[in-house]
Amino acid sequence: SDPVLAADGLTKHFPVRHAGRRRKAVHAVDAVDLQLRRGRVVALVGESGSGKSTVARLLAQLYPATSGRVLLHGEPVAVKFGRRFRAYCRRVQLIFQDPFASLNPVHTVGYVLRRSLRIHHPGLSGQELHQRLCGLLEKVHLNPPERFLDKFPHELSGGQRQRIAIARALGANPEVLLADEPVSMLDVSIRLGVLNLLAELKDDLDLAILYITHDIASARYFAEQTVVMYAGRVVERGDSEDVTQRPAHPYTKLLIASAPDPDALGGGEAPPARGEPPSLISPPTGCRFHPRCPQAMDRCRTETPGFFPVRDGHEAACWLYADEGGTS
Ligand code: ATP
Ligand code: SF4
Ligand code: MG
Repeated sequence: SDPVLAADGLTKHFPVRHAGRRRKAVHAVDAVDLQLRRGRVVALVGESGSGKSTVARLLAQLYPATSGRVLLHGEPVAVKFGRRFRAYCRRVQLIFQDPFASLNPVHTVGYVLRRSLRIHHPGLSGQELHQRLCGLLEKVHLNPPERFLDKFPHELSGGQRQRIAIARALGANPEVLLADEPVSMLDVSIRLGVLNLLAELKDDLDLAILYITHDIASARYFAEQTVVMYAGRVVERGDSEDVTQRPAHPYTKLLIASAPDPDALGGGEAPPARGEPPSLISPPTGCRFHPRCPQAMDRCRTETPGFFPVRDGHEAACWLYADEGGTS
């Protein structure tokens, strides 16, 4: 199917002040391409600071890109405010890492969901609203719904709070969910339940999901496609099974080798691969991974690798995979 939402060369520079110096910028995201399709999950994986959340915020239009475009059903999304922007927000919903921070502590579950439904479906009668509201709670398996309507966020477990945040997003009838580390703040024992819920909703509602995570093992379990980012750039992408079991890019290999336990879901934050992530104010030239790469060659220091095919639908931005005599 055609992508619902796509990133086309998305780039984001955050200006920073340097006393007495010329203005500089954090090169947080550089020329990222990404396609989300209905009924499919794409995992966006990378260590802290690699630009994952910035990609999600650009896709959600929370701030403008420095360059590149966001495409909804193939059409560039350019309208930032007004009616068309609100329509966009309805179709593309964000779910954050910390459900406690994203739910206002003074509002009950009923209030939060009712407000989401009212904003997105203004014409509903009181009765219809109540039915929809209970339907949302059932959809995220909070049963019986009446039990949750008058609860405040602090009266719920972390997993229940995240389910409420998901229900609130569903109130908009979205086509796309951008889930930014939706389970990383939750107890390991309940992560699987929330991921299974997202997988179920994806099938039932034919959602396109971007699943952001540090945890490459969960990407294999939960996402059809895996995209690996390093220092603001996509370095590898392909079928999740393939990328996680037969990684091609030296960074992906290090990420997997340093994951706590590749078969245990949700081992927490993976320890960083050997060495430190680079400064994004003056990122390394050529391949941004070259200072840490055990296989770096001369050209890696000066020339930026494009994508080279590894297998069917699996590609890596690494000179090791350049065709013999290739020029790109
Ligand atoms: P984490 O796994 O820790 O959530 P991430 O992959 O989501 O990391 P981002 O939050 O996208 O990474 O950040 C990418 C880079 O951009 C980082 O160097 C970060 O410090 C920088 N950055 C993000 N937001 C801003 C901002 N609003 N202003 C300045 N720099 C920012
Ligand atoms: Fe390593 Fe070079 Fe490949 Fe970059 S392009 S990952 S430095 S071998
Ligand atoms: Mg983040």
